[in-house]
Amino acid sequence: MSNQEFIADLEEVVRSLGEAGRRLSEIDATEGAAGNLSVCLRGRVRPHPEFVHSEIVELPLAVPDIAGATLVVSGSGSRLRDIREDPTACLACLEVQAGGNTAELRYSTRRNFARLTSEFNSHLGVHYDQSLRAKGKFHAVVHGQPRRLTYLSHVAEYQNVEYLNQRLLRWQPEAIVNLPEGLAIVPFIVPGTIELMQANVKALRECKVAIWSKHGLMARSSSSVMSAVDLVEYVETAAVYECLDLSLGQRAQGLTSHEIRAICTAYDIKQKMF
Ligand SMILES: [Zn+2]
Repeated sequence: MSNQEFIADLEEVVRSLGEAGRRLSEIDATEGAAGNLSVCLRGRVRPHPEFVHSEIVELPLAVPDIAGATLVVSGSGSRLRDIREDPTACLACLEVQAGGNTAELRYSTRRNFARLTSEFNSHLGVHYDQSLRAKGKFHAVVHGQPRRLTYLSHVAEYQNVEYLNQRLLRWQPEAIVNLPEGLAIVPFIVPGTIELMQANVKALRECKVAIWSKHGLMARSSSSVMSAVDLVEYVETAAVYECLDLSLGQRAQGLTSHEIRAICTAYDIKQKMF
């Protein structure tokens, strides 16, 4: 069978998740076993040779319109920084079965986790919601807990979506280019719950990054896992500038609204925040 018949090679997807885990770890967004990753692939995929075991699992929500899709997901308690060195200990794949209520979970002999990530419902919910809106065959979702951004999410003013966006997107010219829809905010909701999943799906419908107040963030990309990680990095870099400015007595001007609008005009960026 030729490569052309597959939309993706699971070994390559697994490698990309390893790179993503390494980068999230480098930027201090995944302490201990915090953070989780997944991709959703719609189409035939070249199987991973180490995922030789399987079991049928119930999905946390029905996803009938993506029956046949393959998801690769990190395991609960897996350290994202370990994926690169020992990927099949940390990851498993799921093939959604007809009807969308169950999936075949495939995993390796090296599997080192009992359950999938506790945020799997949020991952699946976002993949599904986006699949109903776009025809793409690839979608990545990452959850991390970058320190400065998460700190700011504990401060009342930054829980206001207009304030948050105007404060954070003013530090680098590319911020508005990469995040023209801005950052969405999900209020604090207990991790892993259906309520968080529902609020998160809604937040990520238009925006590519949702801040989970007092917890971290979730980012999505329809091009690559690393593009989703890039968004995490842009947002955390903005938070680093913001914290630096707060700690130095707010001496910096930041890009003005006028300057940001000039960038948007030059690069044909449609945005409503400045
Ligand atoms: Zn978390």
